[in-house]
Amino acid sequence: MTDTNCQPTNLLGLDLDGLVALCQELGEKRFRATQLFRWIHQRGEADFAQMTDLAKSLRSKLAGVAEVTAPPVLSEHESRDGTIKWLFDMGGGNAIETVYIPESDRGTLCISSQAGCAVGCRFCSTGHQGFSRNLSSAEIVAQLWYAEHFLRRRSGRAERVISNVVMMGMGEPLQNYRQLVPSLRIMLDDHAYGLSRRRVTVSTSGVVPLIDRLAQDCPVALAVSLHAPDDALRDHLVPLNRKHPIDELLAACTAYLAHAPRDFLTFEYCMLDGVNDRPEQARALVQLVRRHEPAGLRCKFNLIPFNPFPASGLQRSSDAAIGAFARILSNAGLVTTVRKTRGDDIDAACGQLVGEVQDRTHAGQRMAERRAAMQHHRGGAARRAPKIRMIP
Ligand code: SAH
Ligand code: SF4
Repeated sequence: MTDTNCQPTNLLGLDLDGLVALCQELGEKRFRATQLFRWIHQRGEADFAQMTDLAKSLRSKLAGVAEVTAPPVLSEHESRDGTIKWLFDMGGGNAIETVYIPESDRGTLCISSQAGCAVGCRFCSTGHQGFSRNLSSAEIVAQLWYAEHFLRRRSGRAERVISNVVMMGMGEPLQNYRQLVPSLRIMLDDHAYGLSRRRVTVSTSGVVPLIDRLAQDCPVALAVSLHAPDDALRDHLVPLNRKHPIDELLAACTAYLAHAPRDFLTFEYCMLDGVNDRPEQARALVQLVRRHEPAGLRCKFNLIPFNPFPASGLQRSSDAAIGAFARILSNAGLVTTVRKTRGDDIDAACGQLVGEVQDRTHAGQRMAERRAAMQHHRGGAARRAPKIRMIP
């Protein structure tokens, strides 16, 4: 269970089965794992010495081989609307972001799954930064552990603050599948956070084979980043589409519904001025859904006003264009919402999460070169991505 280089195992990344295996290795009974699990996730305790109902011998054994630790917080910014953004230091020059969004009836945490992202969507600042590495399950869960217990301490509440998790921070969660699944299990486990499957959402740009596996391994709510009604445009906006085109993606979505905690899934659609926001594109989207409905596709649309960053060279659609697009979808009977932008003043909105990424695959560099070449053609100057702003 411990690493070969004798690094302590970070227990934040072990689901209950993993903790049971660790306890067995240490010659301890199964129920000890449950006790430990509750201390860590429900009470937020990191110090084994404080876990008073565990035998002293177990506490000292644990202290030798294990730890409970979150990555250091580099900064914390709070927006005027109550949204909080943390920047965590992942070592090696990488930093990732986590965002808490309070609403009257829920508290949502937006979690990162990778340092950077290799998919490279045109409109996403994480994609523009390239890819460094997958986060471990401990690093994924640490975001929830830290935020939940920080918020409880701050508000003086003993009960749960975070009711919803969305895997919509930096990274493509399904490209980090092995670490994702135990992380989801910890979020769902009644001895840990006890979140409902309906309130844990994996958002994906469309890694088709792993949508199928998630349905078997840990079906939670699914959001799929569609962004275009046809393959030609989606190939351009979401490069993964060249591998898994729209019809294949929608077939996987339909199959997922048989296992999903809800009877519909959400399509996210980032509204880009003059690119994917025309009325005929809304009508094409309706036709696309109609073609898949007989097979059982049930969906709703979430239109996301594009959060611009200079290096993208793209603009947000006008409110009028978003309204007209939404009306075409709703008039066709498709439930459609327009996402409210939260934490705008601290760059905490979708696609503005930039952290710091050591671009080991040079994906970001290749995108920047292509962009520079296009700008050269147009006679424009390359501009820098925005930095995180401090609020006064
Ligand atoms: N990789 C996953 C999850 C992280 S991105 C995915 O792509 O689904 C979370 C959501 O933010 C996705 O729907 C993505 O398309 C959207 N997004 C990315 N950049 C954006 C931007 N600049 N403005 C608005 N939404 C953006
Ligand atoms: Fe990656 Fe999602 Fe950004 Fe695309 S939108 S680059 S998949 S994080």
